[in-house]
Amino acid sequence: MLDWPSFEVAKALLPAHEENGGVIDKSGQWWKGQGFEDLVEYLRQYTSRNYPAGPIVQSLCAECGSATFALVVDDDEGCAKRQCGGCDAEAFIGDSDEVWDDADPGEAACPCGGERFEVGVAFSLRDDGSVCWITVGARCVACGVLGVYADWKIDYDPTDHLLTAV
Ligand SMILES: [Zn+2]
Ligand SMILES: [Zn+2]
Repeated sequence: MLDWPSFEVAKALLPAHEENGGVIDKSGQWWKGQGFEDLVEYLRQYTSRNYPAGPIVQSLCAECGSATFALVVDDDEGCAKRQCGGCDAEAFIGDSDEVWDDADPGEAACPCGGERFEVGVAFSLRDDGSVCWITVGARCVACGVLGVYADWKIDYDPTDHLLTAV
């Protein structure tokens, strides 16, 4: 299904015909969103199948406030890093720095070829409030396609520090 040339295509692009009841444009091949709120809705829908998301937090550059990033991911290892489209500042998502040296990351690319995204990080929580799963979603700023580019399990405690590492 994912046969376009790119480095790291989305691991999940929901087919456009799936129903979600929202305002997301489902007329094309993939879900498209106008803004971050649509990415939130997409992540809720995506995570509802396994680990329903609790908080979904938007990535914002701590240096310049930009919300547009290049995304470098390794979905096998389970890690992601973002690079600000405004000032080039980089930040790891969640605990990605701990496995980064063992990973083989590639730059995320939208089906349209776009490599700039709004990024949202969904945290699925256990009953005790600790994080059990991180899902990294992105909305292509060129065409609006919504996708999940990496997700991984968290199997330790405490996890509060992860919730601000987006
Ligand atoms: Zn920046
Ligand atoms: Zn795109």
